[in-house]
Amino acid sequence: MTGSKMSQSQGSSFQAIQEYFQRQSCRYCYQPFAADGVQLLREEPGIMVVRVCCLECSRPLGVAIVGTNNKKAQAKKTKVSEWTKKDTQKFEKMPAINYDDVLAAHQFFNSLGSDWQRHLGR
Ligand SMILES: [Zn+2]
Repeated sequence: MTGSKMSQSQGSSFQAIQEYFQRQSCRYCYQPFAADGVQLLREEPGIMVVRVCCLECSRPLGVAIVGTNNKKAQAKKTKVSEWTKKDTQKFEKMPAINYDDVLAAHQFFNSLGSDWQRHLGR
């Protein structure tokens, strides 16, 4: 476990995301991702936006919007729309994102499943 400067509230969720990507391999150099390669870009109630980058070959995997609370995520229309409009537009302009990245994010969601918070030990 490397030094973590995460906030107390969402730190365990972010660690779970880091641990997930540490079990994945870079599709370019086939090295596993490092915890330091996962950056928390944005943190909102029930949602985290992370950017994943391979530290071995410096290639980005992309940006993933991760729901950390499934019940609240269903009501996100009112709560989150303000920044998603802005930020998703910003993310869309980033060249790092392509179909594969979106696919990876979806696979990420699927692998977490509906009960992934059970792994967080809350
Ligand atoms: Zn790599």
